[in-house]
Amino acid sequence: NQGLGSWPLRRARSSPHQRALVVGADEQTYAGLVERTTRFAHALRSMGVAHGDRVAYLGANAASLVETMFAAHLLGAVFVPLNTRLTAAELSFQLDDCGASVLVYATGHAGVVEQLQVAAPPVLVAVGGGSAAALDFEERLQASPADLIDEPVGYDDPAMILYTSGTTGRPKGAVLTHGNVIWNCMNVLVELDIAGDEVTLISAPLFHVAALNMTLLPTLLKGGCAVLMTGWNVDDCFDLVERHGVTWMFGVPTMFADLTRSPRWASADLSSIRSLLAGGAPVPTSLIAAYQQRGLRFLQGYGLTEAAPGALIVRAEMSTVKVGSAGVPHFFSDVRLARSDVAGSGATEGELLIQGPTVMAGYWGRPDATAAAITENGWIRTGDVGRVDEDGYYFVVGRLKEMYISGGENVYPAEVESALLRHPAVEECAVIGVPDDRWGEVGQAFVRVRSGHRITEQDLLAFLDGRLARYKIPKTVRFMDELPRTGSGKIHRDKLR
Ligand code: AMP
Ligand code: MG
Repeated sequence: NQGLGSWPLRRARSSPHQRALVVGADEQTYAGLVERTTRFAHALRSMGVAHGDRVAYLGANAASLVETMFAAHLLGAVFVPLNTRLTAAELSFQLDDCGASVLVYATGHAGVVEQLQVAAPPVLVAVGGGSAAALDFEERLQASPADLIDEPVGYDDPAMILYTSGTTGRPKGAVLTHGNVIWNCMNVLVELDIAGDEVTLISAPLFHVAALNMTLLPTLLKGGCAVLMTGWNVDDCFDLVERHGVTWMFGVPTMFADLTRSPRWASADLSSIRSLLAGGAPVPTSLIAAYQQRGLRFLQGYGLTEAAPGALIVRAEMSTVKVGSAGVPHFFSDVRLARSDVAGSGATEGELLIQGPTVMAGYWGRPDATAAAITENGWIRTGDVGRVDEDGYYFVVGRLKEMYISGGENVYPAEVESALLRHPAVEECAVIGVPDDRWGEVGQAFVRVRSGHRITEQDLLAFLDGRLARYKIPKTVRFMDELPRTGSGKIHRDKLR
């Protein structure tokens, strides 16, 4: 088994008693993780899960998420972590799309699980908390065998499907192979100097690629300890850093900005921290400065789900020199601009393209979308516009794709617009991202009301509640008699801006 599922076992050969996971007062060693994941794999197999099947997980950061993932990988099954902020309808779409045969969910999400409507419903497995269903499964685990699972898993086998929305508003599942994820871990080890004694704070949700592939997996690969936060909270973050001697963490800019606004920012003991990595959205230069003034090694990274995800990195010593840059390519990745061959006066802007062993296998069941996203030579089109300086440092200067990022969560206007259009009073609409101090960007909707109808901003926002995850719901609505159009008749988003 060459897959990620073998990692706990490989680690346990040399450091069985080392802590792998810390969640609240619970700790799990590498040997403990081997036993749990093996029993879990046997339990999944007894439910019929076989090589290539999809095993979904719904829940906040927890040991059970890590166990579900490795257990699925031991069987050669594909792990599908679901975003806990999504509505039942949004989750149902993803479960249908990937054809999950099992859904493991944390007891706290039982409410939304009851509302799921999936054509071929997955087997439900409750974990965590004290529900009867979760206790049943825990008993089942204890009774499962703990003997080795001998299932061949190769580097090119799919390891995970991560859903990202798109310009059509219909989410697509990015398929990452074991090889994709392993090469991303290699990049992280090389670029961030991850050590065997690392204590990593997993502060972002593990259903996002950055937390999973940039922090958790590289830490476990080296035999370090991952401290899981179950939700974002500034005080918990400071407490955990001080209590466990955290050495590094990844966060989106909103999280790092939250820390600087806390009364504890100046006084907290952060002496154990070796490096911090910010990414997933543009990192304001004022934020970089605040961390440097605090004496912390603060790196920035750029990536996307489809590249497993890391592509560019600014090493700390270059942060002050190349302020605002997204960095140079990771060791095993190549980056270029789509129009970099255009001769000109140094004005070299173009779509960022990424090539290398981390580029996804494709979108699940979407050969058309895959062909559109990856060139013949294996370059993935990022939809981001970049510029490169004379030293080879890239700067993200804009986006071709209609997307904005609110608190680290991507929002696709097309998805919000199609939800708005379901309201009988909405004749036409457009949604754009506008700057916001706390969230980076928030949504603003522009709506033309159908004649004879009356509607207020509150009505419309209430209409979206429950249809869309909260973070996708615009903060404000502006009513207009007419939406500006381009020559070709498309809504003129720049003019709205
Ligand atoms: P995701 O698929 O959630 O990983 O989102 C990837 C997108 O986030 C990229 O295509 C960029 O638009 C944006 N992004 C990620 N990191 C950065 C960064 N450091 N600077 C600017 N945009 C970023
Ligand atoms: Mg993101």
